[in-house]
Order: sequence, then structure tokens, then C-alpha cells
Amino acid sequence: MEETQSLSIQCWGTRGSIPTPGPATARYGGNTSCVEVLAGGERIILDAGTGIRLLGEKLKQDDTAADVSLFLSHFHWDHVQGFPFFAPGCDRDSAIRIISPSPEGTDAESIFRAQMDPAHFPIPYDALSAGIIFHELSADGWEGENTRLTAMRVRHASNTVGYRVEAFDHSVVFVPDNELIGGDYPTPEKWMDQMVAFASGADLLIHDAMFTAEEYRSREGWGHSTFSQAFDLAEKAGVRGLQFFHHSPHRSDSDLDRIVQHFREQAGARGLSLKVQAATEGVRLNLG
Ligand SMILES: [Zn+2]
Ligand SMILES: [Zn+2]
Repeated sequence: MEETQSLSIQCWGTRGSIPTPGPATARYGGNTSCVEVLAGGERIILDAGTGIRLLGEKLKQDDTAADVSLFLSHFHWDHVQGFPFFAPGCDRDSAIRIISPSPEGTDAESIFRAQMDPAHFPIPYDALSAGIIFHELSADGWEGENTRLTAMRVRHASNTVGYRVEAFDHSVVFVPDNELIGGDYPTPEKWMDQMVAFASGADLLIHDAMFTAEEYRSREGWGHSTFSQAFDLAEKAGVRGLQFFHHSPHRSDSDLDRIVQHFREQAGARGLSLKVQAATEGVRLNLG
């Protein structure tokens, strides 16, 4: 593995709620939430949606055992259901650290065991042979070999966080599920100011943009944002790049093309240098 001082990301799953394979979603991708961050030789995985399966296949082809830190935003199934299919889990030489906010009324390991209960899955959790260690996210965040991660509670059902990953003077902010405006959540009054500060100046903001403004009217309180709310956050936070994420299962590739084009024009009209994209499965992006 090369040890260059670079930070790059690759989306392995961009979809929200449920995997959505098929010709209409082939370009932006049908797998659920999973993003790989490479900082020099350090590998971080954000969320374990169905996209993590293909990442595991890639890691299996490497000569060396996997050594990864897996950060979970929360435990809704579109963010964890790929884990039983993550090949390094069955490699006794692999090390997997699972870091998450603490779920209400239970713990992370119990949730991972439950999704491999015989009622749901044929192979039990105890058959996994990798060294798997669960860590509860601390208020101080997490220091990796080259990285520093901080987390922020966001507006979504259950204890859900977004992450900011910093390495080599670059940064990516990952907020897969977040209702920026509307709904009712136990977040402080100045939460939006905190959110803007959390994303401030990032090279890339990957943010929930599940709904159009029209769709949102009948979906307030479902825990997700609109494209224009994510765009406004990106503008306020002065980020360099925005990737719309957690694509609705109903959203086709051509819908996303049209929406991205609209917001690129908006960025131009507002005189912003903001680069707008829709998160795309399989594309690696170098942040510096
Ligand atoms: Zn989700
Ligand atoms: Zn969720």
C-alpha cells in the first residue's frame, strides 16, 4: 500500500433506504450507504450499507489482511445491512474496528449479532473470524494514524451522527441522513450554526439530499433533507465540493443528471466556486 500524503474517497454505496439495482440507477448506483476514505495507507469506511460488499471483495484481492476502521452514522438497516457480506469479516488475520454512536436501549454489538440471528441470516455472528472490536464514539472524536475524526449529532430518528474526517490539511464531511430543516428532534436551538461550523471549509461535503422540495411537502419529519437545503448548507459552510447523497430509491440517473445541472447553474448564478455532483458508486475522488 502506498504511503503518500493524500486523502481520497470512493463511494461504494450512494442509495438511501433500500438497494435499488436496475438500468435506471446503474450510473449513480443502487447500493446503500458506504464510503471509503483513504488517507495515506490508512483506510476508513463510513457506513456498512450494501456497498461494503464490493469493497470487501476488492480488499480480498489485496495480498495483505484488511485493517480498517468502520464508522457508523447510525444503525438503520440501509447503513449496516452489508456487514454480513463484508469478506474481511471471515478472514482471521483481518482487524475491524467498529466505531459508532451508542444506539438507544442496546449496544452496537447486539445489533450486529441480531442481524445475523438465524431468523434473519443463515450464518451466525460467531462464525466471523476477523478480530472485530466495537468502540463507542467519544466526545473527543477519534485519532487514527493519519486522520482525525469528529462527529456531530444530526437531526434524524435515533442517535445519528455525521462525521468530519481530516488528514494532511484536507477534509471530508459525511452526513448521510439528516433533516436540516423541519421535523422535531432533540437538538439544541443553535444547532444549524453548529452544523455550518462542523462542515465549514471542507474540501467535500457529502450530504443527504433525498427529496425534491415538492416531495418534501408530504415527507416532513421523515429524517431527510432536500437538494436545495443541502446546497444552502454547502454555500453557508463555504465548502469546495458538494455531493448529494442517500439518493431516493425512486430517483433515476436521468433525474439526478437534471437536478445536478440545475444546482450547477444555481452555483454559477450565485457566483460560487462550489463544485456540485451527485455521489456516484465506484468513482474515486482525490481531495489532495
Ligand atoms: Zn438511511
Ligand atoms: Zn436513517
